[in-house]
Amino acid sequence: MIAGAAMLMASNAIRMERAAVERRHMLDTATSGLDREIFYQSEKAREYVISGNPEYLEDFNAGVVNLNDTRAMLGRVNDAGARQEELSTLMTAVDMAKTLVNDQQRAIEAYQAGDIETARQMLFSDHYEGELSLIDSTIMRFQALLDQRTQVDVEQAIIRSRFWRVMSEVVLAATALMFLCVLYFILKRRILRPVVKLSDVVTRLAAEDFSVEISEFRHMDEIGDMAEAVKVFRENGLERLRLEEKLEQDLKLRNLLSRMTHRMQACESKKEVANVVRLFLPAILPGFPGRMYLFDENNSVMRQVCDWREPLGSAMTFDPAECWAIRRGAPHRQGGEQTDMPCQHMFKPDAPEEQQANEIATLCVPLTAQREVIGLLYCEMPEGVISIEDEHYVFMMAENIALSLANMHLREELHDQAMEDSLTGLSNRRKMEQRLGTLLSDARETTQPISCIMLDVDNFKSFNDTFGHEMGDRVLMEVASVLKSHTREDGLSFRYGGEEFVLLLPGVEPGEAVRRAEIIRKEISALHFMFNGTPIDKITASFGVATTPNHCPGNKLIMTADEALYESKENGRNRVTKAMLSQGEDMVA
Ligand code: GH3
Ligand code: MG
Ligand code: MG
Repeated sequence: MIAGAAMLMASNAIRMERAAVERRHMLDTATSGLDREIFYQSEKAREYVISGNPEYLEDFNAGVVNLNDTRAMLGRVNDAGARQEELSTLMTAVDMAKTLVNDQQRAIEAYQAGDIETARQMLFSDHYEGELSLIDSTIMRFQALLDQRTQVDVEQAIIRSRFWRVMSEVVLAATALMFLCVLYFILKRRILRPVVKLSDVVTRLAAEDFSVEISEFRHMDEIGDMAEAVKVFRENGLERLRLEEKLEQDLKLRNLLSRMTHRMQACESKKEVANVVRLFLPAILPGFPGRMYLFDENNSVMRQVCDWREPLGSAMTFDPAECWAIRRGAPHRQGGEQTDMPCQHMFKPDAPEEQQANEIATLCVPLTAQREVIGLLYCEMPEGVISIEDEHYVFMMAENIALSLANMHLREELHDQAMEDSLTGLSNRRKMEQRLGTLLSDARETTQPISCIMLDVDNFKSFNDTFGHEMGDRVLMEVASVLKSHTREDGLSFRYGGEEFVLLLPGVEPGEAVRRAEIIRKEISALHFMFNGTPIDKITASFGVATTPNHCPGNKLIMTADEALYESKENGRNRVTKAMLSQGEDMVA
C-alpha cells in the first residue's frame, strides 16, 4: 500500500511539473505576442505615413483590432495564475500601447489631412521612440517577473517529482526485498525444511530404523502426499518387522519344543522327565507358572513332580477326583474370561484362607496314555487369559509328556521282562548284578554290611532224570516261593541260573544270615511233592553264606558265597557253610 501511495504521489508530482511548465509556456506565448503586435503596429503606421500605400493602412487597422483584443488576453493570463504585480505591469504596458496607438492614429489622420510633415514627425520623434522602448522594457520586465516566478514553480515541481520518484523507487525496492524475504521464508519453512525432514526419515527407514517418528504434515500439497506415502511405507515396514519377529519367536519356540521332545524321549525315569519339564516349560511359556503331577498308583493320588515360576495355587498331592480335567479327561479352563468351576485341588488344604489363590485363572490339561490319565499339567494365568497359540503349545507339551511317560512305562515293562525269570517270577542274574552294584555303592556311604546266601538244589540232574523236567520245574517254583517269603521285608531273591539261587540281605550281619539260611534250608527240605500219587524223596539244597565287608570285599561277595556253597556240597550237601576269612586280604576295604 505504501509503495502504491508513493507511486501515486510521484505520478502526481510529475503531472504538477508538467502543468507548471505548460502554464509558463502559455504565459510566454500570450505576452510575447503583445510585444510583437505593438512593434508590427508601429511599423505599419510608419510605412503608411512614408509611402502612403493604403495596404499598410489596412494592415495597421487589422492590428488595432488585434490590440483591442488585449482584454481577452489579460483574462487568459489571469486564469493562467499570473500574480497581481505581474498583471499590473502587463496592464501598464497595455495602457502605454493604447496611448501609442492613439498617437499613431492621430498621425495617420494628420497624414490623411495632408499634414504629412506633422504626421512623420509624430511617428519618428524621440518622444515616440522613447514611448516605444518604454513599452518594450515594461513587457520585458513583466516577462522577467513571470520567468522568475514560473522558474521557481517548475523547479519546485521538479524537486517534488524527483523526491516522490526516489521515494517510490525506495519503497518498491523495500517491497521487493520483503517479497524476497517472504519467498525465502516460504521456501525454507514450507518446502525446504519438510523436504529435509522427510529425506532424513526416508534415510532412517532405508536403514531399517522404524522407530523414527514422522511429524504431522498438514499441507495438502505434494509434500503432504510424500509424507503420507512415507508414513505408509513406515507402517508396512513396522508390520513386516513385527511379522519377522513373530516368525523368529515361533521358530525359537519350535526349536525349544523339538529339543524338549528329543530330551524327553531320551529320559529313563520320571524324575528325568520332571527335570526336562521344569527346564523347558517356563522357557516355552514364560508367563505361566505351573506344576506337573503324576499319578501315584500305590497311594492313588496325584503327586507333584515339579513346578516352575512359583505357582500360587494347587496342592502338592490331591485326589484325582478333585480335578475337573482328570474327571472329564479333557482340558479344563476356569477364571479370568472363562466362567467355570474351579478345581478342588486349587485350594491348598493346609494353607490359611489368605494364602488361597481364589481369584487365579487356571488351565488343567490331563496327561493321558492309552485312554488312562497318568498325570496332569497345571498352569496358572496371571493375566486371566491365554492365547490360542500358547494354549496349543500347552496341549502339545502335555501330549509329548504323556507320550514320553507311556514310552518309559513300556520300556520299563520290557526291561522288567528282560530282568525277570519267567518260570519262578524272580529277578534274574543280570538284575542281581545291577542291584548288588547299587547296594554296594549305597553301603559304602552307610558302612552297612551286605550278606549273600547262595543255594543250589542237590542232585537235581538225577531228579530231573527220574521225575521229568516238568516236575523239576515245579520244584524250582516251590523253592522260589520259599525264598520270596523270606525276602519280602528286607531282602532280595534272584534265580542265579539253573537250580541255583541267590539272596541279598543288605544290613544283615553274618550270624543272622546263617540263621536265615538254616531256616530256609529246613523249609526246603520240608517241601512235599507227589509223583503219580506217591510221595517222592525229599528235596534238599546246599547253602553258602558270605558277608561283605566281613568275609570279602564287595566285588567278591558272590564268588565267596559260591566257594562256601562248594564247601557244603563237598561236606555232604543239605547244609549251610559260612565263608572263611581268607588270609592276606584287607576285608574292610
Ligand atoms: P549237585 O548236587 O552237585 O548240584 O548235582 P546236580 O545234579 O544238582 O548238578 P548239575 O549241575 O550236574 O545238574 C543241574 C541240573 O539242573 C541239570 C539240569 O537238567 C537241571 N536244570 C537246570 N535248569 C533247569 C530248569 O529250568 N528246569 C529243570 N527241570 N531242570 C533244570
Ligand atoms: Mg548246580
Ligand atoms: Mg545242583
